[in-house]
Amino acid sequence: MLPVRGDDLVVKKMAQLIRAGAKLTSYTCPACGTPLLQLKTGEYYCAKCDKPVIIVRSEEEEIQVTMRFGLSEVRDTIFQKIMMINNELKKTTVENVEGLQELTRSLLLLLEAFERINKLMSELQTQEEAKKRK
Ligand SMILES: [Zn+2]
Repeated sequence: MLPVRGDDLVVKKMAQLIRAGAKLTSYTCPACGTPLLQLKTGEYYCAKCDKPVIIVRSEEEEIQVTMRFGLSEVRDTIFQKIMMINNELKKTTVENVEGLQELTRSLLLLLEAFERINKLMSELQTQEEAKKRK
């Protein structure tokens, strides 16, 4: 691979930082793929982007973080639907038996899903805390 102009500068900068005590790591920058340096401060740094990079410690941790974010998004959606059904319920008269039943059934399902997600999320949190204590 031929070095592109600009890359020379990056290499020079990296060499300078290494001379100053930074370490070359096996991690690469998620934005540009340049190998990351670990500075004396412990911070990871991309010389090309000129930015510090946060390293997620392990793949497992990354999956857990992604899962937690995903689950909380699902929980938000379910909560919104619960509120929407609540609004519909308010508008539905007792004479509309079928409508009431349908709404109540949906509400029950949503509440069940909501409860399960909460349980899953707290399980994930317990797992993470247990790992940190090790
Ligand atoms: Zn970069």
